[in-house]
Amino acid sequence: MAFSDLGLVPEILRAVTECGYNEPTPIQAQVIPVALTGCDVMAGAQTGTGKTAGFTLPMLSRLAPYATSSPSPARHPVRALILTPTRELAMQVEESVHKYGKYLPLRTTVVYGGVNMNVQIDKLRAGVDILVATPGRLLDHVQNKTVDLSHMQIFILDEADRMLDMGFMPDLRRIIELLPPQRQTMMFSATFSGEIKKLADTIMNLPQLIEVARRNTAAETVKQLVHPVAKEYKHALLTHLIKSRSLRQVLVFCGTKLGANRLAQHLSRNGIPANAIHGDKTQMARIEALDQFKQGVIQVLVATDVAARGIDIDQLPFVVNYDLPRAAEDYVHRIGRTGRAGASGVALSLVAEDELRYLADIEVLLNMKIPTEIVDGFTPPLDAIPEPQRSPRQRNDAAFRKPTEIAPKRAYAEMEVPDMPLIKSVNSTGKQKQVAALFLPPARQMSGET
Ligand code: ADP
Ligand code: MG
Repeated sequence: MAFSDLGLVPEILRAVTECGYNEPTPIQAQVIPVALTGCDVMAGAQTGTGKTAGFTLPMLSRLAPYATSSPSPARHPVRALILTPTRELAMQVEESVHKYGKYLPLRTTVVYGGVNMNVQIDKLRAGVDILVATPGRLLDHVQNKTVDLSHMQIFILDEADRMLDMGFMPDLRRIIELLPPQRQTMMFSATFSGEIKKLADTIMNLPQLIEVARRNTAAETVKQLVHPVAKEYKHALLTHLIKSRSLRQVLVFCGTKLGANRLAQHLSRNGIPANAIHGDKTQMARIEALDQFKQGVIQVLVATDVAARGIDIDQLPFVVNYDLPRAAEDYVHRIGRTGRAGASGVALSLVAEDELRYLADIEVLLNMKIPTEIVDGFTPPLDAIPEPQRSPRQRNDAAFRKPTEIAPKRAYAEMEVPDMPLIKSVNSTGKQKQVAALFLPPARQMSGET
């Protein structure tokens, strides 16, 4: 299947070619032809499968007849509205719309909270065909009468599941009441809960349901690994892993804003340039941190789940769960930050005893066991190594029944990681073999000790 088979206008095909995309992803191949007919679409696919282009390309193609370089605001009413749950995601979606629509004179802007409204008001007044918005700020503009949605034809809800998780339902209802009933509605989500389906029923008209890949499957290209460790040694272990394996571009997840700040400070003090993003940081600070991370100025970005949602960094090689998420589904979203669109990635989880129950939940959700490796010098006080023949729950109990037993050391597995960005081919044993630097044993283990 080629992009040219999907029925998109030539201006878009040209832009997509320039992005270096060879062929549509499975969700794109399924959604685009359906969306181009104008019918409602409810689409689900795991993170990193290219959903943004899945809705942006048909949207742009349908709006192409309205594209005009006329400066008149009247020629640029809001024709499409894209709602996203977070500011970062809104910015990224806007960037994608610009990228894919660069050969079409359609105007796009983004509005989100946390920044002054005046610049946004000026842009809206000048005329905008495609508006990307977070729900709260959009309602501010509605209240201010600085946005008119009466000409809107295409309504897109991105990350609908997270939107509901974040409590945007009342805002969504208010927004939906303002939209013309004659419209195309498209909903995109990584997961389909009952609540999402209910929302879909109320805002859509005979939607086409398109679901790609199994529900809640972790991106298959991601190598996952658990490092059991005592809670108080987590920061030391992370520092050790990053330094001894020269990891770059590491996205680290923390459960709390305070924890994220502290960890970023600790890493910086230890010579690893790091910054934190979370809900308490100003918009400017978040944008700056993300830019620094993308450019490699900082080596580690520490993020909370909400702040990280939707962040797309091409081929992010490493994700670390400094804390395991309480909701197993968040684990899937987190590790979706790596191994995106075919590139492989590595997801490490530092797991303390009190997190074993979250690990058990994650393994149940994934329907697989995540391999465990104890890092030399960081043997946890309790035996938290999974027994292969036991269920995660039983193992969990067993770990607490043997508090004094020291877990045996384990040698590092040499995991083959194809096409890893930022990882050099390492010749550890004399064999020419591509081994992720990440999985090389620390120097003293390499000398034969296991
Ligand atoms: P999702 O919203 O499903 O999590 P995104 O839309 O953010 O995923 O896309 C993830 C990454 O895949 C982006 O970096 C995007 O540029 C890239 N991508 C999208 N479509 C394609 C394609 N057809 N071929 C190659 N890369 C693609
Ligand atoms: Mg997305």
